Amino acid sequence: MDSYIIVDEKKCGLCGGCVAVCPVKVIIMYKDHLKINDGCIKCDKCIKVCPSGALSKNE
Ligand code: SF4
Ligand code: SF4
Repeated sequence: MDSYIIVDEKKCGLCGGCVAVCPVKVIIMYKDHLKINDGCIKCDKCIKVCPSGALSKNE
């Protein structure tokens, strides 16, 4: 199953902002990409904080 949050890897600058605001810590940042783990509560905080519009909803 796809996660609720979709990452556009081309736009993501790996700033770590979304990782910091996620209340349930399901966004994991690797050296060159992000991974969204299970457990997202669909709060949309990561989408709002992203400076480059790299995150969107899968709906
Ligand atoms: S929508 Fe909320 S819970 Fe889901 S990944 Fe983003 S910040 Fe985390
Ligand atoms: S806030 Fe946006 S640019 Fe920063 S790591 Fe998250 S998705 Fe990438």
